Amino acid sequence: MTTSEVLKRIRESSGLTQDEMAEKLFVTRQAISRWENGETIPNTESLKLISKVFGVSVNTLLGSPRRLVCQMCGMPLDDDGNICREPDGELNEEYCKWCRSGGEFMYKSLDDVVDYLAEHVRGEFTVEQAREFYFGELSKLNHWNK
Ligand SMILES: [Zn+2]
Repeated sequence: MTTSEVLKRIRESSGLTQDEMAEKLFVTRQAISRWENGETIPNTESLKLISKVFGVSVNTLLGSPRRLVCQMCGMPLDDDGNICREPDGELNEEYCKWCRSGGEFMYKSLDDVVDYLAEHVRGEFTVEQAREFYFGELSKLNHWNK
């Protein structure tokens, strides 16, 4: 979906008129109308605000150019509802809501995450095989490469 389609869908599914949406976002109704017609796209500040108010990632607002993955546990963030929210309400698109909650990280080390996943999400694998697999995959993520 394009940004204009995403914005229109958000507004309609929230049951808001263009006027009401404009008021929530501190812009004019004309701005909303231009966004929805695809004439302009919201600036960075507006994108962040829309993201915060409606719980939709900036990535989704921009037409999903990136495939978001939690940088701590590797979970795909296809559903914006699974993305971490910081205490001020802003979405943090780096993490899932389980790895980072209330401004705190759930896991202290890569071993913690690997142990948890190997124990709980291993399918047909033995714990040892799962550990090895997760260790290899997760050590590539940004959070563990800092
Ligand atoms: Zn995660």
